[in-house]
Amino acid sequence: MPPIISLRDFCRAQRDWLLETTESLVGFESPTTDKAAVDRCGAALAARLEAIGGRVTRLTRPDRGDHLLAEFGCGPSQILLLGHFDTVWPVGQLDRMPLTRSAGRLHGPGVFDMKAGIAIAMLATRALLEIGPALTDRIVMLWTTDEEVGSETSRAAIEDEARRSRAVLVLEPSLPGGGVKTARKGCGSYQLTVRGVAAHAGIEPQKGASAVHELAHQILRVNALQDLERGIAVNVVQVSGGLRSNVIPDEARATVDVRVPTAAAAAEIDAAFAGLRAVDSRTRVTAKGGLDRPPLERTAHVARLYEYARSVARELGQELAEGGTGGGSDGNFTAALGVPTLDGLGAIGDGAHALHEHVEIELLPDRAALVAGLITKLSADSARLSD
Ligand SMILES: [Zn+2]
Repeated sequence: MPPIISLRDFCRAQRDWLLETTESLVGFESPTTDKAAVDRCGAALAARLEAIGGRVTRLTRPDRGDHLLAEFGCGPSQILLLGHFDTVWPVGQLDRMPLTRSAGRLHGPGVFDMKAGIAIAMLATRALLEIGPALTDRIVMLWTTDEEVGSETSRAAIEDEARRSRAVLVLEPSLPGGGVKTARKGCGSYQLTVRGVAAHAGIEPQKGASAVHELAHQILRVNALQDLERGIAVNVVQVSGGLRSNVIPDEARATVDVRVPTAAAAAEIDAAFAGLRAVDSRTRVTAKGGLDRPPLERTAHVARLYEYARSVARELGQELAEGGTGGGSDGNFTAALGVPTLDGLGAIGDGAHALHEHVEIELLPDRAALVAGLITKLSADSARLSD
């Protein structure tokens, strides 16, 4: 029997283990901002990782949940499986959207984004350790706790592990229908601050220079940077300014959300913000900020890794699509380092960050087989992917 078919049969036979693992992780609610809750989920996950043979290290963080690093097997090189176990849902959400299996779907907060993805990675690893061919790579998993708020406390660890890895497989949710993500926009924000001159709005308005009026001009300029045809989205998402009704405001602020498809577009937007000048010379405009996540561009490395995955999927009798998305993930960091990265290898389902969040139960085991097959292929290929 071809090795990929044995891996698939193993994963299918372990369907209930995969479901039970997913459900147990969803049962530990883990909103990013609640360290105690996230750490309870982390403790349960760490125990399960150790139970399948992982050597687990906790990367402790004072203000966020501790990240978990787990290593399997040995070998001179490594392949990184990456994802997060924080969710956007508050503790108590399980009562409002309970964990249920119905009509072939598993529903629950965080099941799609991305606790089922963690369970898929664990089953793929089990398949390789228990029945797979000998690997020349270590498998390293990094499960983080602050992806949903920008990965401030995990970025350095993600980048360190990525630099040591031949490839990074990201277990984030798939595109609708199961496609993987070979492009993600870079995302960031800018804070605009305008200083004006305060004055009594009734007695001597001529002495005032309104920061709010100036900000209105700047908002129109910023809005003109948007170029949806080129995939550049620029949106003023928050504004504030002014003190009270009879005072010409001397300060106003705005937050601008920015999405860009390439590093070149990011540089262009950055220069435009740096070049903003006041229309009313009595006011002063400053812009701070930039990209929080660089774009994941469909480089030759990314495309080659996708081709590997596609050929494994074909051996499983599936067609694996690819596509892009406006949302960022930690795969943006690893791809920007030039490390071959394939994102969206996690569960097939729908409703990330939405009340109808769910995964397709019967498609979970083959997803684990796809990941296991891809690791086998990468490990068998002695040529470095990035060459
Ligand atoms: Zn996610």
